[in-house]
Amino acid sequence: MDGFSAALLAWYDAHQRILPWRENTDPYRVWVSEIMLQQTRVTAAIPYYERFLSELPSIRALAEVDDDRLKKLWEGLGYYSRAKNLKAAAVRVVNEFGGKLPADFKVLQILPGIGEYTASAIGSIAFGLPTPTVDGNVLRVLARLRRSHADISKPQTKRAFTEDAATLLDPARPGDFNQAMMELGAMVCLPNGAPLCDVCPVRSFCASRGTEDATALPVKPEKPARTVKQLTVLVLVHENKMLIRRRPESGLLAGMWEFPTCEGHQKKKELEQEFEGSITPLGRKTHIFTHIEWHMIGFRITCEKRPALPGVWVTEEELSSQYALPVAFGKYRHMK
Ligand code: SF4
Repeated sequence: MDGFSAALLAWYDAHQRILPWRENTDPYRVWVSEIMLQQTRVTAAIPYYERFLSELPSIRALAEVDDDRLKKLWEGLGYYSRAKNLKAAAVRVVNEFGGKLPADFKVLQILPGIGEYTASAIGSIAFGLPTPTVDGNVLRVLARLRRSHADISKPQTKRAFTEDAATLLDPARPGDFNQAMMELGAMVCLPNGAPLCDVCPVRSFCASRGTEDATALPVKPEKPARTVKQLTVLVLVHENKMLIRRRPESGLLAGMWEFPTCEGHQKKKELEQEFEGSITPLGRKTHIFTHIEWHMIGFRITCEKRPALPGVWVTEEELSSQYALPVAFGKYRHMK
């Protein structure tokens, strides 16, 4: 594929999006951006990224941040284990590597939250290592380029595509090459719909161009149906304070704050027997995680007496500034 990387990089130089993590290739900045972008869209990640970097401008600052403050900085981004792993890795980098990320593809992968993909992204973008970075975008581009019908969810397909990407990669600009492949997938070789083949910089290299496979590929299995869980969320209010409690330290949304929640859909009548005060139904809300859906029903209970339940009573202002409340519960937060 002579000329492939030159065509791709020329397009990238002219058309890449201006993004805050592309302002410079400091390893810490690249690392934070790669972790944030794993399960978050670019436009949603930008304000979080800027706030995170301005409050925690160095690996040392991240290693020392209070856990609750870290959760607050991550509030709304979801997949909180990413933040927990970031801090755990920062502590190891400070203790074992003098506060600097190691410029080594294999050594990077001993750090919590850094797998092969993230190590190759940090390695190539920040340190110029010739390691191909293969995410979902790149798998799609390669499947179409090669007109491959291999199932991209299979480890052996990923391995073969990673080897293929290594043969295409420009060793003089590995970080730019990897970002260009991902950018091509995000902006031109689009998922869920027709790719923009007419403006694709590598169309002359593409085996799928002009065929139905340009849209149909890649091959991947149907996602299994999510488990549905019914929950009742209670916004208990007493003298302008709300009750929140901490979730268990393991499992979904570990260690985050929540409104008291119980399994199943409770009825207003049942709650009237349990609580003294006025009860207002807040309606049904759904929150979707990767493998599970929460079908929630909410009630605001303005209590005459403060119920003796575990947790912390906070004002709206305290909740906003000090406690990390996941989006699922935030759906009931401002409802009167
Ligand atoms: Fe994707 Fe079309 Fe470009 Fe092929 S020509 S890589 S299918 S956008």
